Amino acid sequence: MSGVAKKMKAFAEKSSWIRKMFEEGAKMKAEFGPDKVFDFSIGNPDVPPPPKFYTVLRELAQDEQPGIHGYMPNAGYPFVREALAGRLGGEQGVSFSANDILMTCGAAGGLNVIFKALLDPGDEVIILAPFFVEYHFYIDNHGGVAKVVATDSEFNLDLKAIEAALTAKTKVVLINSPNNPTGQIYSAASLRELGRLLDTAGERFGTSIYLVSDEPYRNIVFDGNEVPALMPVTTNTIIASSYSKELSLPGERIGYLAVHPEMAEKEAVIGALTLANRILGFVNAPALMQRAVAQLQNVSAENSVYARRLEVFCKVLDEAGMSYVRPKGAFYLFPQTPIDDVEFCRLLTAEKILAVPGRGFGLPGHIRLAFCVDEKVIAGSSEGFKRAMAAATQ
Ligand code: PLP
Repeated sequence: MSGVAKKMKAFAEKSSWIRKMFEEGAKMKAEFGPDKVFDFSIGNPDVPPPPKFYTVLRELAQDEQPGIHGYMPNAGYPFVREALAGRLGGEQGVSFSANDILMTCGAAGGLNVIFKALLDPGDEVIILAPFFVEYHFYIDNHGGVAKVVATDSEFNLDLKAIEAALTAKTKVVLINSPNNPTGQIYSAASLRELGRLLDTAGERFGTSIYLVSDEPYRNIVFDGNEVPALMPVTTNTIIASSYSKELSLPGERIGYLAVHPEMAEKEAVIGALTLANRILGFVNAPALMQRAVAQLQNVSAENSVYARRLEVFCKVLDEAGMSYVRPKGAFYLFPQTPIDDVEFCRLLTAEKILAVPGRGFGLPGHIRLAFCVDEKVIAGSSEGFKRAMAAATQ
């Protein structure tokens, strides 16, 4: 009998959809050859990092100053945070100082730092379905309780439902826009209203309710859409983001938090975030990557390819007769399934198409398709989608 915690066994079961599809994909690729499998299961950017990343990395590798690979302040190098403060100030329309920024091990590390810093046992975190699978784990890691609120039929904020879910125990409302898995971007008007709701509820309960914006896809948008700034929404805003998608560097684990410059008791919050970064064992974000991204503030990977892939994928789904809400950003489609989502994934697998059932994201009756694959793979899946739809609707 293994000594693995019962809770971890239950977690492994809960998180098994993406893993199952991933394992299925590996098996099928070994059996049929990688070019014969249409794998849309994993959101791992396949676009290369921008050429300047390699130039900067080569230059940094030459630097042999003593201490350059040593420990540093837990929040990160001040000059790196300064560079980010400048750029984010322009993006968010507020004036950040380096002290408002904390460098993290990706957005995932940043979210764990936030929850460690803010949550007492039993505090509630509102998440919106469908959601990024890992949220439940991150919240549980720090003794919080996830409270799931549905979005509307087009995956927009359901403000009434959020308002009804707010209690004296609500510590955080976590949003993700552009969204994984739907690609939705929340409108500026709905976000303003959300901020008003949170501030009003906080006053009523005598608490602080923080709006946490998880936004690693901010720079991947389609059809001229824009992602509204979050800082004007409420002074209790914290942004968690990363370079995983912007520079196509998810394996390098480099991200950041930005705290509203006018947040009440900001020093205490930033102190707690910084301590959390240390005692969660991250200690600090990777030194080399911090120095690299400081020089890559207005640089991006060739993320325009995702827009072309979206066109190809929409055509494939239209021809197969699938319904979906056109994503405004990120690199996912979340179409409806005409039958049970797991059953539909089985039909797709028979066509060597790998998708993840929507129930893995808290919304059955859908599938998530990640378009981190070549356009040819997307186009090549067309007949398979048609046959799966025909089998499902016969
Ligand atoms: N949040 C969302 C919505 C994501 O989709 C991901 C990764 O796919 C993350 C956070 C984690 O990003 P990072 O690699 O920056 O930790």
